[in-house]
Formats: sequence, structure tokens, C-alpha cells
Amino acid sequence: MILASETLAPDAGFTAGARTMTLAGSVLEVLESCAYRWFFDRERSRFRRLPRTAALDGFSDAPWRDYSSLEFSNDGNSFVVALDPHGTRLLSATGHGEGCTCTKL
Ligand SMILES: [Zn+2]
Repeated sequence: MILASETLAPDAGFTAGARTMTLAGSVLEVLESCAYRWFFDRERSRFRRLPRTAALDGFSDAPWRDYSSLEFSNDGNSFVVALDPHGTRLLSATGHGEGCTCTKL
């Protein structure tokens, strides 16, 4: 596992400088919400997520899940993942930034 860049500025929002990593030839977009660290394989429309505070060692234990679309809010601080094309099953997340007041440090 190679971390390709560490360019995500705190509180910059998800869309302003997303962090990526390369895993077995696939480029994964890494997004941190308060509860989870999300790994999106945009090319294959699938993602994994791990509790944000978990060690990355557990990465390969997290199952891939297919998704249909990934939409960011206008401010780039939250996103919604649609798991099916009709958008009937949605997951949403809010970004964990430096000024975040959540208790999950
Ligand atoms: Zn947070």
C-alpha cells in the first residue's frame, strides 16, 4: 500500500484536494468523515469504509461495496453515496476536519 499524496488540507472540504492512494494498480480516493475513512474506487464504482480510528491493517478485511453515484454538497464538506441507480439506498457522511467538534478524535 502506497500513499500517493498527503495533500488534503484540514477543513478544505472533500473536493478541494482529495487525497488518493494507489492499491494494486487502482487509484483510490480517500475521504475522511467523522465516523469512517472511505476508499472510493471510482473506476470500478465500488468503495470500502473502515471506522476512521481503526488501523489501516484492517483495510483488506473491509468488503467492497458497489455504488451508483457519489455526490458532494456545494461546500464540499459532506457527500451522499447512492448504492443503487434509483437512489433509494443512500449513505451520507460529513467531513472530519480540524475544526470538527465531534468527539471521535
Ligand atoms: Zn469529526
